[in-house]
Amino acid sequence: MQTIKNFNFNNERAIIRVDFNVPLNDNLEVTDKTRIEAAKQTISYILSNGGSCVLISHLGRPKGKDPKLSLANILETASMVLGVRVKFSSTCVGEEAEKKAKKLKAGEVLLMENLRYHNEELNGDENFSRQLSKLGTIYVNDAFGTAHRAHASTTIIAKFFKNKKCVGALLEKEINAIDKVLKNGVSPILAILGGAKVSSKITIIESLLEKVDHLMIGGGMVYTFTKALGGEIGNSICEHDYCDYALEILSKAKQKGVTVHLPIDVVAGKSFSNNTDKKVFDLMNILDGWEAMDAGPKSEKKFHDLIMSCKTILWNGPMGVFEFSNFAKGTISVGKSIGDATAKGAFSLVGGGDSVAAVKQFGMENNMSYISTGGGAMLESLEGKKLPGIAALS
Ligand code: AMP
Repeated sequence: MQTIKNFNFNNERAIIRVDFNVPLNDNLEVTDKTRIEAAKQTISYILSNGGSCVLISHLGRPKGKDPKLSLANILETASMVLGVRVKFSSTCVGEEAEKKAKKLKAGEVLLMENLRYHNEELNGDENFSRQLSKLGTIYVNDAFGTAHRAHASTTIIAKFFKNKKCVGALLEKEINAIDKVLKNGVSPILAILGGAKVSSKITIIESLLEKVDHLMIGGGMVYTFTKALGGEIGNSICEHDYCDYALEILSKAKQKGVTVHLPIDVVAGKSFSNNTDKKVFDLMNILDGWEAMDAGPKSEKKFHDLIMSCKTILWNGPMGVFEFSNFAKGTISVGKSIGDATAKGAFSLVGGGDSVAAVKQFGMENNMSYISTGGGAMLESLEGKKLPGIAALS
């Protein structure tokens, strides 16, 4: 697969699929510009290499041409972040759009209107993709967050560029981080899975059992295992239909030489709320009337020792109900341990959903080797699926 470094952008017009799907407040101001900042590396590289950039993105899920979801709302922020006066086209396809794109001079950037104003984007419409392709001479995909979708701008468009297509710097980083765990992981490799349900992680677990040495399980999914193993779970969440599957995972792991680690103790509350009474129980003996919502102190110590002994660490899903400050300690502790292991030379990847939110909430972003920018795309990568947006570039 080619990267931006494989091309000379001099006098070329790069059409870049970026992810500018940023949050806006009621005054239509950008409240978090992380995604625009993340696209800067690719855009700056192409501009300094003598090219111009046509940026295409979606914003939200508009029903028709909703002005609240116009990309014009982010123009000022984009100009500020990118350090160039970004031009705007009020439509992303058609004669006007093509004219504006073709007028671009080296060093200039043009942002096109929201792709999702057209249903053809989500439908992966070939004609719409062909129209989009006319905006540029080299196609660059730098939007990991939508790489798992076969949309017009993320996948279908690539077929109109023969060899003149590549991954952007951000997408390249995501692919490298995933490969560092799933393809070239240095042993011992540890996967930490948390979150609410076993049922939502089945494909990930199956895929990871082929790759890792250790599987650590935390969060609400633990109690399906506890129940399956004959323990008492009190009022803790449990997917009774998945108890057999939990036992199957344990036996598959054994066959494949993967060691499974469950908590030793847990912190439970009287009710599902932050300010409820708290009590620590052994994992297998949670009393009726108590709901386990976090890992306990012995588990924290056990998990710390395990994490420190590993060289490659993947973290997906919180260790408890981290949204309640009184039940966030296990999640914070695991985050700290991963940070310590990383400082000692381990490679750590935090990917998919709530563990990313937790790491950000507790200010640990800088302690991890890589934090993924794509929720669904990261989960599908961990499931071992080839993402269509990436496959289309090969
Ligand atoms: P997921 O999206 O599957 O990664 O699940 C994340 C959610 O799981 C978070 O909102 C957590 O609050 C929730 N969670 C984690 N541990 C528990 C638990 N012991 N009981 C109930 N919910 C939990």
